[in-house]
Amino acid sequence: MEWVIDKQWIVLSPDTASLCRYWSGQPMIFCRQKAVAQMLRGWRHQTWWAYCADHLYGRTIREGVVYYGRAQHLVESHDAPT
Ligand SMILES: [Zn+2]
Repeated sequence: MEWVIDKQWIVLSPDTASLCRYWSGQPMIFCRQKAVAQMLRGWRHQTWWAYCADHLYGRTIREGVVYYGRAQHLVESHDAPT
């Protein structure tokens, strides 16, 4: 796996008021932890969706930039570390 900059996400400043938009369950349980990054979502009306460090869907933040992990098995041998 290699880390690639995810240009759809931006890192929030530490003093942001944004809260995590993650939810799950029935009834719905909202995360509401302080958000660390946000992404632009939507079809006709794009809005920023913020998420906390626990809900970045496998992404990671390095030096103020959001990265996502991209599988390399198509271009590298299968003995690469996962
Ligand atoms: Zn969260």
